[in-house]
Amino acid sequence: MRIGIAGAGVAGLTVAWLLDGTHESVVLETREDLGGNLRSHRITDDHGITRTVDLGVREVSLEAFELFARLARGLGLTDADWDDRPVTHTVRRAGEEHPLYCGSLTWTAEQGEAARTVDLFTRAAADWAEKDLRWSVPLHDVVEPLPVSTEAKRDIIYALPAALWGCEVTEAAALSARAVGAVFASDAPAGQVPTAQTLRNGMQDVARRLAAGLRTTELRPRAALRRIRRVGERWEMTDCHGLAHHVDAIVLAVPADVVTDALQPLADTEPVRRALSAYHYENLRHGLHLDPCYL
Ligand SMILES: Cc1cc2nc3c(=O)[nH]c(=O)nc-3n(C[C@H](O)[C@H](O)[C@H](O)COP(=O)(O)OP(=O)(O)OC[C@H]3O[C@@H](n4cnc5c(N)ncnc54)[C@H](O)[C@@H]3O)c2cc1C
Repeated sequence: MRIGIAGAGVAGLTVAWLLDGTHESVVLETREDLGGNLRSHRITDDHGITRTVDLGVREVSLEAFELFARLARGLGLTDADWDDRPVTHTVRRAGEEHPLYCGSLTWTAEQGEAARTVDLFTRAAADWAEKDLRWSVPLHDVVEPLPVSTEAKRDIIYALPAALWGCEVTEAAALSARAVGAVFASDAPAGQVPTAQTLRNGMQDVARRLAAGLRTTELRPRAALRRIRRVGERWEMTDCHGLAHHVDAIVLAVPADVVTDALQPLADTEPVRRALSAYHYENLRHGLHLDPCYL
């Protein structure tokens, strides 16, 4: 079977890596660089020291992301390649000098309502998983009954997932409580700061290792997917150069708006396209301190 994969981010490359050897694949990618949001840059700081800076994915939890940890081991990454770093959260109200909360989800030096709210929130989140809460229940339904003030709910409980999901604090109330809980219920014992891992050589190393292991996969950077068409029993993927790739199955590992456009000519894809069109993208601008203290 020949598989057509659109997108050479970690999703597309991992599919290619898993299929490699048993199937032939072709991967179409818009950019020159592989890795998508695995995007590492080598920069030289003000002291002349060269470092790797990750602009996209920076940290993962090898403990919580079991599948990713297995993938990393399969790619030959060992403990020596990873650095541990503490996961902490700082919550600030605009215009106020001191943060409202500063600490991990299981440990803080802070006292008072903010700390009590975080504690209540993370314990409630663990309970949602324990009780197998339906994924469709919105955060609002399980947060509103919690015995903390309206301000604490807004400034802490809704603000934390809003920052992560990139939505307004008011919109966070509609997020799936179970999905939010999966992120904010920490397994770390109370009093200990949980850790996440960063890759010394930068996260893009994962993409490089995936690509290096490919034998029966054709990688096509600078070849954006433009159109998909059914041709008899097979599919035709046309890239931005007008080149047609004929495949038996397609994997779309590209942003939702790209999928929506690509599926446009295909019958019976309207419900999928409608669902995907709900995703909106914002441009992100990176600022980088070259002062090692802030880097
Ligand atoms: C700023 C930022 C920070 C993040 N930090 C973390 C973190 O610390 N830890 C974590 O676990 N996750 C983090 N994430 C989430 C993580 O980046 C994603 O979950 C993951 O990288 C998604 O991989 P993907 O392969 O699905 O998509 P992407 O990485 O988005 O890959 C999609 C690929 O498709 C390509 N493409 C687009 N259009 C076309 C087309 N028409 N034809 C062909 N190819 C196309 C793109 O160029 C890209 O290479 C972060 C995300 C962002 C944006």
